[in-house]
Amino acid sequence: MEKFANALEMVTELQPDIPVFAARPHAAGRAARWFIDNFPGEVAYAYKANSSPFVVGALFGAGITQFDVASVVELEDAATIPGVRLHFMHPVKARHAIRKAYFDYDIKCFALDTEDELQKIVEETDGAKDLELFVRIAVPAKNSRIPLEHKFGISGQAAQRLLVKARQVADELGITFHVGSQTTTPDAYVLAFEEVKKLIVKAGVVVDAIDVGGGFPSRYSDSIPARLSDFVEVIKSAMDKLPVTEHCRLICEPGRALVAEAESLIVKVDLRKGNNLYINDGGYGALYDAAVLDFVFPVRLIRDGLDPSEPLVPFELWGPTCDSIDRMKGPFMLPASVREGDYIEVGNVGAYGRALSTRFNGFGEYRDVILQDEPMFSIYAEERTPVARNA
Ligand SMILES: *Cc1c(COP(=O)(O)O)cnc(C)c1O
Repeated sequence: MEKFANALEMVTELQPDIPVFAARPHAAGRAARWFIDNFPGEVAYAYKANSSPFVVGALFGAGITQFDVASVVELEDAATIPGVRLHFMHPVKARHAIRKAYFDYDIKCFALDTEDELQKIVEETDGAKDLELFVRIAVPAKNSRIPLEHKFGISGQAAQRLLVKARQVADELGITFHVGSQTTTPDAYVLAFEEVKKLIVKAGVVVDAIDVGGGFPSRYSDSIPARLSDFVEVIKSAMDKLPVTEHCRLICEPGRALVAEAESLIVKVDLRKGNNLYINDGGYGALYDAAVLDFVFPVRLIRDGLDPSEPLVPFELWGPTCDSIDRMKGPFMLPASVREGDYIEVGNVGAYGRALSTRFNGFGEYRDVILQDEPMFSIYAEERTPVARNA
């Protein structure tokens, strides 16, 4: 793997014609260490966010040994990491996937949000007695870029019934939720814990684990979230108020917050039409979130001898495919002189960028390099040391 000090050194040397994934494994390592040091429980990684070996290797090297997987391919992939503990947290699983997970990969931990799924898990594990079952409950999404509440989660009396039924077959019973991806304020977790508390009391079951899911934010040009330590404080105090014993496990499974800063995308400008830049990756590539969800990733022009005082002007970006929805409307602020042949670094695409890229229209091929400088934005560099709280 080729290593460079920064993007300018890389483009000067390689003059790449195809888009480049520039990994910063040290940024993934820093994120993992922050969560391990500051989150008052266990930290798992949601594997789907980015499964690049450079990124996953850095998380593992920093001490992450639990991984949340959602498919057979993901679990087979993640199972190659030595000593990992895998959680199968997709609430709807194929029967063959449950059987394979339990018997071939020794996975005991499954999420579910219906009695039918509970029945499937019991049947496909041949009535196993060592299951860790997490009931996925519906929680209100608040200040989340990508709410997940309509697809998964059970609530009300149905949730109480499912908790009681799962308790009867589980060795360990957990409750899990997901407040929605890129949740920018911690109050979503307060609301979620209120639901958890209500359900535990009403169902009258002993709960052994709470998994707060992912949703922790990263920093983008159009999104400046609350500090991560504020999220941690809110979760800590909500956990203290739950009717559970001190042995109750607390788990989080961030995807985005652990890996967003760990990759940039370096694209080349194929054409400029006014303030529209046609670049060599786009919405069918690593910029899906910019095209479909209007994320504004940070950008900078990578050109030798650039005058730093040059004013920035707004640009729209267009991807390389023939499709007209392959458009990232931004605005992306770049120097007015940007021209064909220039390179642009698109920062913080480490979460879901690589994972969502396709081969549509024959595009979707990348070079991989490692950069040693800092990511364009870091939520961790900005993080002040959290104040210790009295227990
Ligand atoms: C996607 C997902 C995550 C990670 O979500 P982020 O918003 O990327 O942190 C965690 N848990 C489950 C069950 C998920 O589906």
